[in-house]
Amino acid sequence: MRSLWVLISELATKRHRRLTALMTLWLCCVLLIPAPAIAKSQVLIIIDDVGYRPSDTQTLTLPTPVTLSILPDTPLASAVAAQAARQGRDVMLHLPMEADSGYKLGPLALTADMYPHTIADTLRQALRSVPNARGINNHMGSRLTRERLPMQALMQAVKKEGLFFIDSRTTPDSVAATIAENTGIPTAIRDVFLDHEHSEAFLQQQMALLVRIAKKHGLGIGIAHPHPLSVDFLRRTLPQLKHQGVELISVSDLFAPATPSRWEPEPKRRLTLAPQ
Ligand SMILES: [Zn+2]
Repeated sequence: MRSLWVLISELATKRHRRLTALMTLWLCCVLLIPAPAIAKSQVLIIIDDVGYRPSDTQTLTLPTPVTLSILPDTPLASAVAAQAARQGRDVMLHLPMEADSGYKLGPLALTADMYPHTIADTLRQALRSVPNARGINNHMGSRLTRERLPMQALMQAVKKEGLFFIDSRTTPDSVAATIAENTGIPTAIRDVFLDHEHSEAFLQQQMALLVRIAKKHGLGIGIAHPHPLSVDFLRRTLPQLKHQGVELISVSDLFAPATPSRWEPEPKRRLTLAPQ
C-alpha cells in the first residue's frame, strides 16, 4: 500500500496528472467498496429409523456431522446413542407417530386418541433409550402431524425437555413445524428424502436436488435411512460436498446459537422455518 502511494506521489511530481488521478480513483474504489459477502451453502443429513438391524451400526462410520435419529426402545437404541456420544456425534429421537397407512409403528408411538398427558409421558419414556437426544423428528406421522391438539401437546412437552423439532414432513398438510415455532421451539423442515428408492442413480439425483436447495436457500435438510446402499453412497459422497462449495453441518451447528441444552429449558431464540 505504501509503495502505491509512493508511486502516485512520484507520478504527481512528474506531472502525469491524468494518470495520477485515475490511479487515485482506482485505489479509492478498491479500498471503499466492500468485497461481496460469500453466501454459505450448508447441508444437514439425518439418518433416521436407526435401532433395529445390526447393520444400522454402519451409520457410525459416516462423517460425524451426520446426525442419527434413533427409534425408541429398539434393540440397538442405547448402544448406538452411547457410541455416537463418544464420537461427538449428535443424536435425535425418532418418535413414531400415527400414519394414515396404518403401518405398524413400533414401541412408544403417539396416536391421535392419546390424552395430552399421555403424549408427554410417552415422550419422556422414549427419551430414556436415547437420553442424549438433542431433538426429535417424526417417524411416519402422516395422520398425527395434521392434528393440531396432539401436536400442541407434543410441542409443549418437547419445549419442557429443551429439545428442538425437525418435521420429517410425511404429509404436505403437516402443522407440526408451525405449532413448534409458535410454541417457541427451534424448528426446521426436511427438504429431501434421499433414498425412498434404493438405487445409486436415485441417491445421486436426490443428493443433487439437496445441493441445489442448499445453494438456493443457504440450507438443505436431507433424510436418509440406514440401508447399506445409502450408507455406502453417503460415505463416498459427503466428503466431496466441500468441492461443490457446500458445508456439511450437524444439528448442533444448525441450532447451536438458538438451542438450549436439555438442561436449560428456556429457548433463547426462535429459528425461522427452513425452505421447503
Ligand atoms: Zn422413520
